[in-house]
Amino acid sequence: MNVLVLGGAGYVGSHAVYQLVEQGYRTIVVDNLETGHRGAVHEEAVFYQGDIRDKDFLRSVFEKEQIDGVIHFAANSLVGESMENPLKYFDNNVYGTQSTLEVMNEFGVKHIVFSSTAATYGEPEQVPITEKMKTDPTNAYGETKLAMEKMMRWCDEAYGIKFVSLRYFNVAGARGVIGEDHAPETHLIPIILQVALGQREHITIFGEDYDTPDGTCIRDYIHVDDLIEAHILALDYLKRTGESNIFNLGSSRGFSVKEMIHAAREVTGHPIPEKIGERRAGDPSKLIASSEKAKKVMGWEPSRTSIETMIGDAWKWHETHPNGYDDRKGE
Ligand code: UDP
Repeated sequence: MNVLVLGGAGYVGSHAVYQLVEQGYRTIVVDNLETGHRGAVHEEAVFYQGDIRDKDFLRSVFEKEQIDGVIHFAANSLVGESMENPLKYFDNNVYGTQSTLEVMNEFGVKHIVFSSTAATYGEPEQVPITEKMKTDPTNAYGETKLAMEKMMRWCDEAYGIKFVSLRYFNVAGARGVIGEDHAPETHLIPIILQVALGQREHITIFGEDYDTPDGTCIRDYIHVDDLIEAHILALDYLKRTGESNIFNLGSSRGFSVKEMIHAAREVTGHPIPEKIGERRAGDPSKLIASSEKAKKVMGWEPSRTSIETMIGDAWKWHETHPNGYDDRKGE
């Protein structure tokens, strides 16, 4: 089976490519390398550099490769940035998905697994969040992902393109040779680990006045390799059932920002100084997902659920790659 991974040079996408190659899938990667890294792409994958908004480029890939299914990670994903520059998000995320679906339709490709987000739910009325709860994003990023899902729903009805949308929160962990490398880094765990490495003086906690036990935001963390297992199960699900569906992925357990910092101190043995800062725009206080449906329907069984494993695996990558992929232009 030939699988096209859009955004396969990014943090999450590159882990998908490794698992697909290891499981014997012929893996084709498309990435514009705006935030991805060429060095993150498995050497046995076929790589095309280009932008999914460029339909002629996409068509040339579909022409050369016999694509059986698509896994879509090619989106901007920063909450803060999406509040400052929402049009960037509508352009790359929503329009990028539109051009992908158009080209899939032209070439008769009927299956897409979509890397969505639980930010589609916004501030939940209760946790853990199930797929039945209402979607009402509190930030532009979540709004674009919801729009992408809705576009897929109508393309299913009109063209029979079947999709599985996977809604998840905070991805953590890494495998030895690839890991998380964003510039600038905005995510909690890599920033904490940069403090542990001495690259930053402290971690700023964005708000200590949330309605949570210690006042800091609670998030559901998932190991990147567990997450990718769900994406590959979703491909199987599409093949097996020919049905579209939406699944939440999470650990049904949340950790506060302070708990994460504490766990990182234990794992790394470094003091990791913290400071309290302002709230970050668009941040819901508490996000925890129920994964019961993914477990029951797709047979997903996450096995790397301890926060120490996730931080420990991320730490192995950061310790051995203090400058990430070391491929930044102009540095
Ligand atoms: N966070 C923080 N300080 C930082 C980065 C993140 O307090 O330097 C908080 C952020 O407000 C959120 C949580 O950590 O509550 C996770 O943020 P991240 O950006 O990693 O992921 P997101 O929840 O936005 O997907």
